[in-house]
Amino acid sequence: MKSGKTSATIILILIVSLSVSCGGDGASVQPYSETRFALGTTCSITVYRKKDMKHLGEAFEAVNRVENLMSVNLEDSEISGLNNAAGKGRVELSGETFSLLEKSKAFAAVSGGAFDPTVGPLVSLWNIGNEGARVSGRREILDALTLVDYRRLELFPDTSTAALPLEGMKVDLGAIAKGYAADAAVKVLRDAGVPYGIVNFGGNVYALGERYGEGPWRIGIQDPEDERGNYVGIVKIEDQAVVTSGKYERFFVEDGVRYHHILSTLDGKPVDNGIASVTVVDRDSARADAFSTLLFVLGLEEGMRLAAETPYLRAVFIMEDKSVYTSMDPGTWFSINDDRYTLKGEER
Ligand code: AMP
Ligand code: MG
Repeated sequence: MKSGKTSATIILILIVSLSVSCGGDGASVQPYSETRFALGTTCSITVYRKKDMKHLGEAFEAVNRVENLMSVNLEDSEISGLNNAAGKGRVELSGETFSLLEKSKAFAAVSGGAFDPTVGPLVSLWNIGNEGARVSGRREILDALTLVDYRRLELFPDTSTAALPLEGMKVDLGAIAKGYAADAAVKVLRDAGVPYGIVNFGGNVYALGERYGEGPWRIGIQDPEDERGNYVGIVKIEDQAVVTSGKYERFFVEDGVRYHHILSTLDGKPVDNGIASVTVVDRDSARADAFSTLLFVLGLEEGMRLAAETPYLRAVFIMEDKSVYTSMDPGTWFSINDDRYTLKGEER
């Protein structure tokens, strides 16, 4: 009846040759990579100079720190503390958690609640990607929806405290925390003087610097219909994040219907609006992560409008009918390399 898939699926494919000729000195560039399981997914960090390897451990420590603060799956995380105190009172938070909550609330506001960090009760109800996921009933969905409202998440900057006023309310940062963790890991590498590298946390990619100092990295966007790592197109970036939200990431199938993990805060069900995936390119990986989810929920028309008016942010919408839209002239930064897909530039 069900076929679950974990978010360990690597969504973006790095088109990085294993050994290439570098710069004028002809030296060979070798990847030095470490992979760990964190944030519910496979996380890998790659650097290209042997001497940078010693910073991989520190970068993963930053990831662990973020996970320990923000995971809803860890009973003693700060977010779990906030959720456990729902309806009871305020909870003091670290500056990091507090400011990500502030950002999340701002992203919720800008999207009219399409992205909502208090989506937790719905996420728990559907339980997608975990054992026991099942189709939720109308009544229980409506009950959960009454607890989803970012405007009711109370944030008190003076004391770095937060509160959820109703029992049962629940913050879930699943749509932004991986991106934030990627920012944190990149900061460690950057502060240590690492000039280039790739952070890939289950498809939340950050391409640090240039590709071995030789111009843009080329990051493939996963074909939403193909699990084998084929890609629809390539984005070329330097020093930026590329994050994809897709229907194929976490889902289960019941009676031939596929239920995925991105939920509508209007009807409480998996979003069904013709979008197969949204990829966002941005300097801020947390924002790219939040926006990939947010634009997916908003839908093509509204999402394209919001992406176009958000400074520095670029988005690629891949539709179920295999049409592809970019929020900014694809120019040299995006190209399709699968002729079953069509770029719909002119009609915009
Ligand atoms: P992503 O893979 O970044 O698109 O994030 C999806 C995850 O975000 C889900 O697994 C949920 O934990 C959470 N989520 C689902 N729907 C929403 C929503 N409408 N707003 C905010 N977070 C959501
Ligand atoms: Mg996201």
